[in-house]
Amino acid sequence: MKSYSTARTILFWMLMVIVAVVLWKMASPSDQSARGREIIYSDLIAQVEKENVREVTLYISEYSYELQGEYREPTSKFFVKMPKEFAPDLLRALQQKGVPIRTMEVYQGTWTSILLNGLPIILLVAFWIFMVRQMRVGKGALWWARRLALPRLGLGYDLHRLEYGRKLIVGGIEMPFEKGPVSHSDGDVLTHAICDALLGAAGAGDIGTLFPDTDPKWKGASSLVFLKHVATVLAERKLHIGHIDAVVIAERPKLGPHFPAMREAMARALQIKPAQISLKAKTNEGVDAVGRGEAIAAHAIATLEA
Ligand SMILES: [Zn+2]
Repeated sequence: MKSYSTARTILFWMLMVIVAVVLWKMASPSDQSARGREIIYSDLIAQVEKENVREVTLYISEYSYELQGEYREPTSKFFVKMPKEFAPDLLRALQQKGVPIRTMEVYQGTWTSILLNGLPIILLVAFWIFMVRQMRVGKGALWWARRLALPRLGLGYDLHRLEYGRKLIVGGIEMPFEKGPVSHSDGDVLTHAICDALLGAAGAGDIGTLFPDTDPKWKGASSLVFLKHVATVLAERKLHIGHIDAVVIAERPKLGPHFPAMREAMARALQIKPAQISLKAKTNEGVDAVGRGEAIAAHAIATLEA
């Protein structure tokens, strides 16, 4: 899905460039080489006297006249630029020699011409500014710009001491084990780390400020309630969870078999799909407090999209 929309964005850009080039070509003055060689006014008068001018076209613009024409011998094209006041004499001379004269009006320097010539550039600059604005991760961004923009990334970490005779809850799931975390709430390290990762990505503080352990309201609270609350914080900011990845570090018990149930429970609390949550388990190889079974820890990262 992601590569599909990226390809579509690239195609869209290529199309924009082609359109700009075509517009530019259309608005640009005609090919200069078709005008032939530039000559001076007196040369032209001399050639007119020699009856060596086959035909001419007079391009009339606001400030100057340009005469384009063709010599008989040798057949070649020429053009001459001149002030307006030279035109009557020249035209008279051409008429006397029976040279066919065409006149064309050129709106050079008028607003129409400026607009026609500058339009592709104006469009391109306007579109560029529009794109840059849309690229920002924010509520105003279009769906394709949102996909193109880098997601917001958050990191979370938690650790709890383990003591005998306490319930062990990890990822919202209670596990049969002789020890459990020492905590004001249910001490769910995994949920706490994920809350912090999500809040961090949203720039919305951390679990300690949102659910202070001095508040009796959170005594023994299920950490899934924290997750639900974090989900509403994200919704208020119009942020969507992309993916969550977490590692739980505990010497015992084996957590892997409980992962499907944990993902299900946490996904339900966050109103996302279990597939958006990835869980891994590690031991601490018998070293440090975690390795000795005195503590349990978790690391989590989360991405948010606008
Ligand atoms: Zn905690």
